Amino acid sequence: MALIVYAQVVLPLSSYKSFTYRIPAELRQVVRAGSFVSVPFRQRSATGVVVSLHHETPFKGKIKSVRAVREEPTALPHDLWATIEWISRYYFTPLGLVLKSALPLGFSKPAAQRYETLVAITEAGREALADWRGHAPAQKGVLEWLLARSAPSSVDSLADVTAQPMAVCRRLATRDWVRLEQRSLAADPFRLMTPAAQEQVTLTEEQEGVLTAAKQAIARKEFVPILLRGVTGSGKTEIYLQAAQEVLRQGGAALVLVPEIALTPQVAQRFRSAFDQQVALWHSHLSPQERAWTWQELLKGRFSVVVGARSALFAPLRNLRLVVVDEEQEGSYKQEDPAPRYHARDAALMRAKRAGAVALLTSATPSVESYYNALIGRYDRLELTERFGGAVYPHVRLVDLKAERRNTGNYQLILSNPLLKAIEERLDRKEQVILLQNRRGFAPIVGCNDCDYTADCPHCTVSFTYHKSARLLKCHYCGTTLPSPEVCPQCGSPYIYLHGIGTEQVEEYLRGLLPGVGLRRMDTDTTRRRGAHHRILREFSEGRIDILLGTQMIAKGLDFANVTLVGVVNGDTALFLPDFRSGERTFQLVYQVSGRAGRRRDKPGEAIIQTNHPEDAAIKAAARLDAHRFYNQILAERQELLYPPFSRLIRLLFQGKDQEKVWDRAREMRSFLTPLQKGIHLLGPASAPYERLRDNWRVHLLLKSSREVDLGGQQLHRLITNRVPRSWLERGHQGVRMKIDVDPVSLL
Ligand code: ADP
Ligand code: ZN
Ligand code: ZN
Repeated sequence: MALIVYAQVVLPLSSYKSFTYRIPAELRQVVRAGSFVSVPFRQRSATGVVVSLHHETPFKGKIKSVRAVREEPTALPHDLWATIEWISRYYFTPLGLVLKSALPLGFSKPAAQRYETLVAITEAGREALADWRGHAPAQKGVLEWLLARSAPSSVDSLADVTAQPMAVCRRLATRDWVRLEQRSLAADPFRLMTPAAQEQVTLTEEQEGVLTAAKQAIARKEFVPILLRGVTGSGKTEIYLQAAQEVLRQGGAALVLVPEIALTPQVAQRFRSAFDQQVALWHSHLSPQERAWTWQELLKGRFSVVVGARSALFAPLRNLRLVVVDEEQEGSYKQEDPAPRYHARDAALMRAKRAGAVALLTSATPSVESYYNALIGRYDRLELTERFGGAVYPHVRLVDLKAERRNTGNYQLILSNPLLKAIEERLDRKEQVILLQNRRGFAPIVGCNDCDYTADCPHCTVSFTYHKSARLLKCHYCGTTLPSPEVCPQCGSPYIYLHGIGTEQVEEYLRGLLPGVGLRRMDTDTTRRRGAHHRILREFSEGRIDILLGTQMIAKGLDFANVTLVGVVNGDTALFLPDFRSGERTFQLVYQVSGRAGRRRDKPGEAIIQTNHPEDAAIKAAARLDAHRFYNQILAERQELLYPPFSRLIRLLFQGKDQEKVWDRAREMRSFLTPLQKGIHLLGPASAPYERLRDNWRVHLLLKSSREVDLGGQQLHRLITNRVPRSWLERGHQGVRMKIDVDPVSLL
């Protein structure tokens, strides 16, 4: 056998290139595909990953040597490595870029630790306090505060008690009245959470059946894709927690993906209770240090369960036996920018396949694609039909806003009489209300009554949203802000009008109507600060808030027993977006948010949905909670129009500052791609619905292949590989960038 002496190495760069290095004799036993190696690169040392090994190389230049390799167990698990390679191929993204997004910043250096200081009262401190003679009131205050708490507290948390917590604690420590200790901040991402009480869980018969089926699949030790459909509150989370526990008992590992917004303290706490120190948390609010630390500990095998959002897909767990994708229809599983534009659900299926693991997709309202895959038997099907504890599904009522406006003569109507009445009833009964308005700011459109002026972002074909509390016009795409005008900037008229309703406006309206009511708004604007999201939810669960008003952020995952009413201020916000998924999204959002009401048997819930289009199919199906009917209808529609799951789509989006050039490049690409094989369709070039964003003109081409002709999607991929110049993929062409979006979730 020829000796392996060369390694192809990729570095985290935006290039399809890999680099050839010689492997010195002493390292030949340990280097393999997926190994991390340290190599010389442009006068520096860089960390890369070995893609493949060879005994010869066609490369004629000077070949440098690998300097060092990190040995097992710090190489990537093989299934993860295979998934990374698949993402690179399937989403047309240079391997280096996939690595850049898969590996946390600083993954190759020992994670820098940050510490916080904890303080606890000692026995001597208790005695001193009981018999307090000193004068120092700050010291006394701190001791009293500590006395009320059994667990050590962070010194920083004493900021409310004294202005100089550290100085006071140090002085107390010199007298042995308190004990100080250091704790690593990276070590416990759960530290923000308050411990939850353990609940006694005995599965219902239906749940037991589903869990048994899941365990049987796990026992097969091979790839089994499953779609678990279950109405909200039916125990899906409970089931996959127990399935994961089974996997752990067998010495395996489990990966659980949840949508970013669903990673509430409530959810995290359930994982903590189920897996204690074996679970690691992975989400976008981790600091780079926490990320690097968690990643390194994972490679060492410290954790057996990871729960996290999209990028947790890349968690280097070994011996993976179960991959859960919770709320698999969620749009946040799709990464849009930067590349790789991967779908974490699809990549999770691929990872499970490579690992020989069970892939468990769960949802109350699956994506049309997954519903279809289960329907035709490509996925196993499991179903939970009852809400736990005999809680009944809420009664859903539609309110026709057009009719309401006509009947009341109020054309500025925000909340209809039926919804208002229902809210007041709940307040009287000390029950809680969730109100959804999926639009932030005060009003999405600002214009002049005396001329044709409308406030539009100068950089985007998007109208400015008026934010009243900040007194600004904001573009929700590029973030541009302007002071809100007092008079029309075009004609000087004072008659500025506002059109449409955002969460701020609903808030102002409710505060005027129900002064003193505990109302909290939750949207991107009120949750920018770390921890704000958790704080609001905690206040809501503790009953300090009566009405929680917010955007889609509040639609999912929340489980509060005392919520008996859900109101949707306008169910149509996404209905008319020019995108083939808008009906599906509307259905999912309305259905999901309705499920927040009536989580307990003794408190039946109600959902009231205001709409201008009570006859719309998606709205009607959501109101009837009739999922099957909705899916049948939408599948028929997709089949007719040849949209997924009946076709595969690839979108080529051209963007640049010069409109002419953007169109030229799109036309040129069209000429590269034609003539087309039978069964492949090419639409465009056409302006994207958002014609210009951030000063870039946007033109797209859409490739479609019917699934009958192109089962694995290889034909579309081959077409792109053969006809699209690499340089266009890597760098764009003549100032025009081309984005390739495989299986796009949005065509906007
Ligand atoms: P889903 O994920 O389908 O929305 P969950 O698993 O969150 O449902 O269950 C809804 C609520 O019911 C949770 O508070 C959960 O703890 C509780 N629950 C579900 N099944 C049981 C059970 N068998 N015993 C006790 N509590 C349960
Ligand atoms: Zn004007
Ligand atoms: Zn803008």
